[in-house]
Amino acid sequence: MKYCKRCLYPQNHALNIILDSEGVCSGCRVHEEKYTIDWDKKEAELASILSHYKEREGTSYDCVIPVTGAGDDFFVVDTIKNKFGLNPLLVTYNTHFSTKVGVRNLARLIAKLDCDHMMSTVGPDTIKEISRITLSKIGDMYWHVLAGSQTFPVQVATKLDIPLIIWGVNGWLDQVGMYSHEDKVEMTKKVRKEHALRCLDAESLIGESPLVTHKDLQAFTYPSDEQLEKSRVRGLYLGNYVFWDSQKQIEDMIQKFGYETHEQERTYNTYESIYCSNNASVHDYVKYLKYGYGKVNDHVARDIRLKRLTREEGLERINKYVHVKPKALDQFLQWANLSESEFIGALDQFRDPAAWKRSETGEWELTHSFNDIDLSDSSQALEVIDPREYIQTDLLEQQSPDDDYILLGRSYMDENNFKAVEG
Ligand SMILES: [Zn+2]
Repeated sequence: MKYCKRCLYPQNHALNIILDSEGVCSGCRVHEEKYTIDWDKKEAELASILSHYKEREGTSYDCVIPVTGAGDDFFVVDTIKNKFGLNPLLVTYNTHFSTKVGVRNLARLIAKLDCDHMMSTVGPDTIKEISRITLSKIGDMYWHVLAGSQTFPVQVATKLDIPLIIWGVNGWLDQVGMYSHEDKVEMTKKVRKEHALRCLDAESLIGESPLVTHKDLQAFTYPSDEQLEKSRVRGLYLGNYVFWDSQKQIEDMIQKFGYETHEQERTYNTYESIYCSNNASVHDYVKYLKYGYGKVNDHVARDIRLKRLTREEGLERINKYVHVKPKALDQFLQWANLSESEFIGALDQFRDPAAWKRSETGEWELTHSFNDIDLSDSSQALEVIDPREYIQTDLLEQQSPDDDYILLGRSYMDENNFKAVEG
């Protein structure tokens, strides 16, 4: 296995990275653009685009912003509403896996930023069946969240005649440098299907189970080309117009709005993914079982690129978290009515041969170890100039990985009930 000499990403990254002749990956190269781009100019460009939407007549909402209650959402909504003066409609696809801290942060976002909000909740039996089907069909128990959260905002925008959707950062640009900032890539039907959904559209699930019919898949069915053409919905990534720095942005949001953070089982990042019990745990463990790396690699790569971690510190964190089997798995298995062997076995055919091989006794073994990385070659290492740890805020209510998922949360932000406890 080859690794990026700078950020330590393995070459078999699921989104594809390209290592150049110096052994540096495409994600690191695109990150370098951030230091040469004239961000004031970019911001002026964004202001000009947004002004067209702000000045549309006869509408109540200027744009749709998809949110989960994550820290980045606070930043996007604060920027779009308070800095640029648009009136956004916030929309959420219900993951079914909400955590206590996630529910509080979402309520906090709606209340403190004073925005209208809509949520799409699919029937639980349908979601469970879809999760089992996609697990066996594409080795992914999280497809419904990706599909739903990329579909619902577009459905709302087309139905309510709101021609703009503001997304945060483009993950394909940020992680692996699939695009340059200058490409100004936008969110389209093609991008969604090819990259986000691993080419599995809702229609492909028809016929897999009597419980999953066209009617059951409404939440995952993208508007038709005709509808899209008529409504001319445009999906912008804010990350193409501002120097995207999640950690700093979220620290501002902690200060400004009291965003709560939480520790996680498979990464040291206490800011991201905390709204969902599975995003950085079971879903990420699946990534590890397929590709041999996990979210901790994403976080290390980013923090190295932002000159916050040395490669040695990064490697230590990767080794601490990447192999962790999350306690949250038990809750998921119970929810999905699967045994652990059914779950793990379903992933066998999706193991990347670059990362995993079967031993003579039939056990899966990694073909490589992150300790194989040769750190003695420091030609591409970056100097740490902004060391920064992730803050753990006080929690209003304790939570643990074996908590039940919350389907719909309580509204916490009123003084009388924001510290509500069970019962
Ligand atoms: Zn790299």
